Amino acid sequence: MTVMNVPEKTISADLVVVGGGMAGVCAAIAAARNGCSVVLVQDRPMLGGNASSEVRMHICGAYGEFEKYGPENREGGILQEIMLENYYLNPTLRFTVWDDVLYTMVRREKRITLLLNTTVLGGDCTGDVIRSVEAWGLTDYTRYRISGTCFCDCSGDGILRFSGARYRRGREAAAEFGESHEPEQADRKTMGSSILIQLRRVSEHHPFVAPEWAYHFTDETFTRRDYVQNLDNPNFWWLELGGIEDTIRDAGKIADELLKLAFGAWEYIKNHPNGAARGWELDWVGKLPGKRESIRYIGDHVLTQGDIEAGGRFPDTVCHGGWPMDDHHPEAFFHPGPPNHYYPSPTPFGIPFRCLYSENITNLFFAGRDVSCSHMAMSATRVMGTCAVMGQAVGTAAALACRYRETPRGIYERHLEELQDLLQEQDQFIPGRAREIPELSSRGTCSHEVLRSGIDRFYDGKDNGAWIELGESCFYEFDRPEEISSVRIVFDSNFSDRKTMRAIEGVVESDRKEVPGTIARDFAIECRCGKSWRRIAEEKENRRRCCRIAFAPVKADAVRFVPIRFWNETENRVHLFDFEVAGPAESRESTGKGFESL
Ligand SMILES: Cc1cc2nc3c(=O)[nH]c(=O)nc-3n(C[C@H](O)[C@H](O)[C@H](O)COP(=O)(O)OP(=O)(O)OC[C@H]3O[C@@H](n4cnc5c(N)ncnc54)[C@H](O)[C@@H]3O)c2cc1C
Repeated sequence: MTVMNVPEKTISADLVVVGGGMAGVCAAIAAARNGCSVVLVQDRPMLGGNASSEVRMHICGAYGEFEKYGPENREGGILQEIMLENYYLNPTLRFTVWDDVLYTMVRREKRITLLLNTTVLGGDCTGDVIRSVEAWGLTDYTRYRISGTCFCDCSGDGILRFSGARYRRGREAAAEFGESHEPEQADRKTMGSSILIQLRRVSEHHPFVAPEWAYHFTDETFTRRDYVQNLDNPNFWWLELGGIEDTIRDAGKIADELLKLAFGAWEYIKNHPNGAARGWELDWVGKLPGKRESIRYIGDHVLTQGDIEAGGRFPDTVCHGGWPMDDHHPEAFFHPGPPNHYYPSPTPFGIPFRCLYSENITNLFFAGRDVSCSHMAMSATRVMGTCAVMGQAVGTAAALACRYRETPRGIYERHLEELQDLLQEQDQFIPGRAREIPELSSRGTCSHEVLRSGIDRFYDGKDNGAWIELGESCFYEFDRPEEISSVRIVFDSNFSDRKTMRAIEGVVESDRKEVPGTIARDFAIECRCGKSWRRIAEEKENRRRCCRIAFAPVKADAVRFVPIRFWNETENRVHLFDFEVAGPAESRESTGKGFESL
């Protein structure tokens, strides 16, 4: 055989992130903002993984029992910033535009080299250190060799296990970790994969003809009749198969079976004499199965059912979950019983840093559904909001690892507190850990004492914020002039809003989303030097929840936040959880636009 001569390219970076789902996107952004050069390698043309328009799953997270705990435990940080940017750039919440919102978020980070349509196939190691990965560029017919100091596997499938990194597959025996929800005997079964379909409202009914290769169901053979009685907010996650096969090696065969299932299911639903689907037609059928489970790496800690049930109170908690343990039956659609079981988890539960790096490969991090969990714990941590906050945690840890020339374990052993501080500074929620406020802020007199609580959200039912109206400000005053070089502001971005991406086609005006009115659209930071106030920074079109605004150091005896324009102009007031000031000695890291870190 003659093989075409293909170009080869060599790239190197501090951090190589493999997989651009929500975990990989957040890991790459976090690392870049904290000073790393990053290569983000994604095998698809778009980012987002199961949240992309290719699969179309909504991002869920730590708000299992929403009415009780939801608003307090929602993910902040980079994920929240992405959601707000989505409201701004994609107010009708279309999956097809959402892909480009993620692309925009990554493109804005100058330290990220993004390789789309590029598949990592393997790589080189020296002993227990990964030196480089090899990848194939689908559209440019290029072979890439990408070397790095650290690597982060966010592929879901654990592609970097070529390194010899230890991993698990399938369900543990109940006795191994004392997990009551696991089977008695260990097996290699997993949760399955799904192809989703999307519907469109129509005024005329036309029967649906499925292709001859599809399944054809009757009332006796269609196992999920309960799920199709009401199509007002359809979610076809239960079109699931593959848990008794190998979700990686058999992916092609599983995809064919899922298409047979998807077309057959819609034929059954649409043409059913009960008429439930007369007002709907098929608009889109996914071609790429979304995977729920492949392999799980082994880290210095394996998160278990018991850990979750105990609330995940770890000294090295760096992120949180809160979705219930949502375990799907491996036989999925063809299982005659319920497709899944929800076992309660406390909301929130902490996830320790030790689950996010390899126990035996010294420079390997991971985030997403392939992290170090038992099968049962993973059934709770796998939701994408949780994957995203794991991504932010490892991206930030990788930046510290590169800065201090440490391994991931070295960060755990010697820089854990700094990692947690930095994460909180950048709006990551760490349950039970209050954020330390800068010394300068504690020294001044604050107009709104509540803003110095170190808690940037409603918590335990308490509003830790202050309302500031047009014409008002919040401020610090000092006994003598102080040198000020940055302020941090956290707005309330309305965590109780549950609107998700559009599940059906056809614009309905009430589906429009806007940046919450509790965030200031334009605002200024002013300093008082002697008697007069001087404007030292102005933000326009702000839609971030957490902003750190840095400026050349100014000597001032007071500093204030002044709202100028509002997203909701009938309300004309904003709700802040944090306003604090820092001097050059305690300058913190970036939370995105407008702040050059390191
Ligand atoms: C049908 C279904 C319904 C679900 N419902 C929900 C839900 O409602 N809400 C929710 O939050 N979660 C849901 N989940 C779970 C969730 O989608 C996954 O657990 C989650 O996507 C995992 O995120 P991730 O970033 O680890 O992986 P993924 O989203 O799988 O992203 C990994 C990315 O890496 C890429 N990749 C893989 N291999 C390579 C390689 N070799 N080189 C380069 N790139 C590679 C993949 O193409 C993919 O884009 C659902 C899952 C499925 C399958």
